[in-house]
Amino acid sequence: MPRPIFAEIDLHALRHNLNVMRSKAEGRTLWAVVKANAYGHGLENAVTAFADADGLATIDLCDAELARRCRWQKRILLLEGFFDASDIERLESLKVETVIHSFWQIDLLRKAGVKDVRCHIKVNSGMNRLGFLPVEVNAVYDELTSIPGVRVMDVVTHFANAEPTYFGDRPATVEKQLARMGRLARGGAAACMANSAAILFHPEVGGEAVRAGVALYGVSPDSHISSEELGIIPAMTLAAKIIAIQEIPAGEAVGYGSRWIAKRHSRIAVVACGYADGYPRSMPDGSPVWVEGQIAPLTGSVSMDMLEIDITDIPAAQLGSRVELWGRHLPVNRVAACCGTIGYELICALARRVPIVLR
Ligand code: PLP
Repeated sequence: MPRPIFAEIDLHALRHNLNVMRSKAEGRTLWAVVKANAYGHGLENAVTAFADADGLATIDLCDAELARRCRWQKRILLLEGFFDASDIERLESLKVETVIHSFWQIDLLRKAGVKDVRCHIKVNSGMNRLGFLPVEVNAVYDELTSIPGVRVMDVVTHFANAEPTYFGDRPATVEKQLARMGRLARGGAAACMANSAAILFHPEVGGEAVRAGVALYGVSPDSHISSEELGIIPAMTLAAKIIAIQEIPAGEAVGYGSRWIAKRHSRIAVVACGYADGYPRSMPDGSPVWVEGQIAPLTGSVSMDMLEIDITDIPAAQLGSRVELWGRHLPVNRVAACCGTIGYELICALARRVPIVLR
């Protein structure tokens, strides 16, 4: 028997979320972002569930290889482009399109002698991570199109603050980044700009194409807005079972470092999920865990393979009870907020050792 922990992946939810994002970006090319093993959901599952997307976007060529092995015949885009000259041949044979963000990539392309490579020019419109400055874009376009076998598809950019909560007095707002892109768009280039937050919260962001990631997995890109409000369904539920129960008197401590000390006689459940499964060790006491329809508080520091919760007030919780760490009954953003992070990080960090069960 495998350990009683599993990540349930709801293919119906993935399809539903794709339809929701499609309806928000009607008439535009929809790239389904599947990097980081489809945000932890399993690339093969994403290939199946996102069959109606126009293309898959990732950062790893090996993802492209796997998607092709899974019979994905539509477009694939490398969001950070290639990293080395040796990637270019693979890129071409797999028919993978690439972002170009730096002049060194253009040099490698020129030397490679390619037959048919589709490129997307990355513009740094204010995030200051990857991309050419808006003033460089015309020169980049000319350089790329002067290379035989190279086609330029569009210009792409990425927003730093498209979530309403971030919105406000920041140097890079959607409005400012859009203005910089708008000046480019006058040259007639098609644009691919919107991520989930921009698709959901900024309908003014136009463009020929969008790149939807986290919302496809049913997680709100903004921790302060729920998935239900957005009409999306969480596709991943991380669940495990209670494998032991300890009855302890007041004054006894639980777990490494004896961090949590019982104030009363307590029933403590040991759950088969630890930080090696992707549940953060930094979760504080009191973090919510769902069991038998109620929320139980985390007690003590998370171990590598187990964690403990206080079930004193939940008599229905018994040996073998199913516990949800996040998912259908407990939004991953709520869990993530307890340790100062975002849902993205938790779902992407799901460990490979956790078996995936399809629903
Ligand atoms: N485009 C790029 C370049 C990204 O790096 C990402 C994800 O980080 C996305 C699109 C998808 O973003 P989101 O998951 O917020 O929709």
